[in-house]
Amino acid sequence: MIRVRFAPSPTGNLHIGGGRTALFNWLYARAKQGKFILRIEDTDQVRSKKEYLDEITDSLGWLGFNWDEIYYQSQRFDLYRQQAEALLKKGAAYIEKTDKGEAVIFKVTPQKIQINDLIRGQIEFDSQNIKDQVLIKSDGTPTYNFACVVDDAGMNITHVIRGDDHISNTPKQILFYQALGLPIPAFAHLPLIMGMEGGRLSKRTGATAISEYRRAGYLSAALVNYLLLLSWSPGANREVIDINEAIKLFDISAVNKTAATFDLKKLNWMNNQYLKTEDPEKLTDQLIPLLLEAGYIKQEGFDRQYITTLVKLFQERLPTLNDFVQWADFFFLDQITIDPDAEKKFLGRDLSKEFGLFIQSLEALQQFDIISIEAAFRELVKELNIETKALIHPIRVALTGKTIGPGLFEVIYYLGKKRTAERLSKFIKKGV
Ligand code: GLU
Repeated sequence: MIRVRFAPSPTGNLHIGGGRTALFNWLYARAKQGKFILRIEDTDQVRSKKEYLDEITDSLGWLGFNWDEIYYQSQRFDLYRQQAEALLKKGAAYIEKTDKGEAVIFKVTPQKIQINDLIRGQIEFDSQNIKDQVLIKSDGTPTYNFACVVDDAGMNITHVIRGDDHISNTPKQILFYQALGLPIPAFAHLPLIMGMEGGRLSKRTGATAISEYRRAGYLSAALVNYLLLLSWSPGANREVIDINEAIKLFDISAVNKTAATFDLKKLNWMNNQYLKTEDPEKLTDQLIPLLLEAGYIKQEGFDRQYITTLVKLFQERLPTLNDFVQWADFFFLDQITIDPDAEKKFLGRDLSKEFGLFIQSLEALQQFDIISIEAAFRELVKELNIETKALIHPIRVALTGKTIGPGLFEVIYYLGKKRTAERLSKFIKKGV
């Protein structure tokens, strides 16, 4: 039975790197019908915070990485103490007295340590380079390396899958397994994730919390698919892959050895792939809180169906749900803001005549539908003997405040005759 674990410390939010580690553990467990264990490494009682714990578990839940068992290291201090005592008895560890208390220190003996990493292959370390290791600190709390070994052994973890920032910890941990006489799990160290500008992914280069991506309107399935591609490929140049299919195809030994680059553009592309095929009703559910927050709709009463209609209008090109809030703002706001550059470029000249005539032809329509609106527009352009774009861009900017968006005739249709006329009228000089 395969047993893997994800072991976050609740001293910060779950970031992209942690999300990827969690994904590969969860995926491996599901691929092998094993167990995925969540171990909260909250030994640092000062830095560990309940709000981070909640944030991490919420994010894991949102990503869909359901765990089979959960443990808290803060509830297992006795176990670490017992194992430290055992090492003291064996003479593998010694006590060091400090003014704060007694620390338990592991004696490192000279030897070569080999790991056969499932991703990176054979790696050799020389314990000459490792100094004696603290097991239990003088305040009574265990160190990460020691608690990790006691727990990985105690929880029967078969595969330790973690970021390769932990690679230097692995030989120290192996020394502890050997001294305790415990079976050593297999190790798989996931390659580094780099920022777009090179260097380690950091907050500055986009390593924001998973919850921030959630808030920004990414779909969890898209983010998971993206995290998957960061270090693995389903083959045949496939990029969009359903997670259940990935479970069938995944193998830990096929994980990339080389560092991955976190590319926000690619993530946006991926998110769009999911957004455009997602059920508009589901997207509406997710958008309502964003629209409420933006103040574009009111809790007491809004037209859900209208939102769904608009979702369909934007869905094809949307990178994130948050973009919808910005791109579609003119459908919700009474007072739209017009992009100053666009205004200068397209509304700089006097359009009173053109806009006035267009309003008139819309008023005259017997049927106010997309086809009739387009026909009226084309007729007017012909009559005025001007190019289509000479009128299409100014109308779009006057109605939406932007230069890009869905088809203009659809925009007019869904804005309605009244709002269209009102917005265009603002650019008609009085007395004309
Ligand atoms: N708490 C450690 C971390 O968050 C876990 C490392 C491990 O998986 O062993 O980096």
